[in-house]
Order: sequence, then C-alpha cells, then structure tokens
Amino acid sequence: MSKRILAIHAHPDDVDILAGGTLVLLAGQGHQISIVTMTPGDCGTAEYTAEEIAEIRRREAATAAALIGAEYRCAEFRDLAIFSDDPARRRVVEILRRTRPDLVLTASPVDYLCDHERTSELVRDACFGAPAPNYRSGAETTAAPLEAIPHLYFMDPAGGVDREGAPVIPDFVVDVRSAFQKKKEMLAQHESQRNWLRKHHGMDHYLDEMERWTRACGRRVGLEFGEGFRRYKGHPYPQTPLLEELLKDFLAPAKTQS
Ligand SMILES: [Zn+2]
Repeated sequence: MSKRILAIHAHPDDVDILAGGTLVLLAGQGHQISIVTMTPGDCGTAEYTAEEIAEIRRREAATAAALIGAEYRCAEFRDLAIFSDDPARRRVVEILRRTRPDLVLTASPVDYLCDHERTSELVRDACFGAPAPNYRSGAETTAAPLEAIPHLYFMDPAGGVDREGAPVIPDFVVDVRSAFQKKKEMLAQHESQRNWLRKHHGMDHYLDEMERWTRACGRRVGLEFGEGFRRYKGHPYPQTPLLEELLKDFLAPAKTQS
C-alpha cells in the first residue's frame, strides 16, 4: 500500500545528500514523497542577497524533488536561526499536519551544524505534538491533527560522523546502488551550492564528496553505495520497522550490519 513519506532537513540539498537514493527507491515503489527544508539556504552565498539566494535555492530544491515526482516546500526559517522554541515547534507541527506522513526521515540528533541538530529535535517533538487536537499550530489556516505519531527515522549526520569525528553507526544501511545516478542528478540541481562550498568550505567537488560519503556508508556493510538510518526509539513512537519493511529488498544482509 502506498505510504506518505516526509523527508525534512535543515537546508536545500541535505535531504538529497543523506537520503536521496532511498527516496529514489521509495518513489519508484509508488510512495508519495514530500521534501521539506527548514530554510531556503539564505546564508549559503557570498555573491547574492539573502532574498536572491533564497529564491534560487527554493527553485533548485523544487527541481531536484520533481525528478522523483516529490513535492517540495520550505518552512521559511532562516539559516543559523533555527531554535527549538514554542513558535518553531508549532510551525513544524503545521507542516506535519499538511503533509500527513506515515513515515518521517529527518536530521541526525548529532551533526556538525546547529541547524541540523535543532531540526532533528524540532521534528522529533513535532511528531509527538501533531496528533494532539488541543495543540494549536497558530497558522492562519490549519490542517487537522494527525491520526497518530508517524514512524520517525534519523538520517546519518553529514559525513557519517559526530562533532568529534567519531562514526555514528546506523541501525541499517539501504543499498542505493541502483538509485545512485538519480541521486547524483538530484544533487546536481543545487548548482548555486557548488560555488558556495568551493569558497566557504574549501570543498571543490560537491558531487564527488557526496559520492565519497555514500560509498563510505555502504563500505561498512559490504555495499558499493549506502545510506544509513536509525529508528527513533522514544517510547510512544511507532516501533514497527516500517522503513525496513518497505526497503527489504535493498537492505544489506543482517550479518554485515553493524
Ligand atoms: Zn545543512
């Protein structure tokens, strides 16, 4: 049966880098995919104004999403200004109520950047609040509360490591070899990021770096290309392995999982 899947991360391109291949596979199975970014990447530039780059990056993200038939929306927070506070949680709840996911993929709780970590926390808590009828989003037009807390999974942190450089070990790794070309095509839509990363991170090869990370994640479990996920274990959240079941034909053999 077709599921509604929400992939929500901080910036345009995070989803494509960390879960793009998995979304290609899920879209191929006929599931309905929404990609949401918390910000439009308004600080990722040294040449445009915040408004100009935001417009460019929303367009790039929407084009990337469209390659797998996914819808794209931006929650319109701003770079380096995502805080886990009352208005932010209500805004994320409204996004959940509008996209109505069975399954949510979001940022790792531990990552190199504050925006990623706050996104993870906000989405986790919004999943809890979204089914509660008395919890108001405060939006002008509001969608109905969710029927239940959705299944929640964390993507790997950028590069698969924590702030100390120690590996963050996923619960399972999805074999994305057959989806890798499409994943690369999705990421290539984020043209404006390539220039910025060259300048700011000293990262010359945007697509190559993503490839390196995807290969490294797969290598740990004997795959050519992999994307890792952890299921959130908080007690009231669904603990049936929905994502693992949907992707059962693409999981690394259990014996090689870390
Ligand atoms: Zn990011």
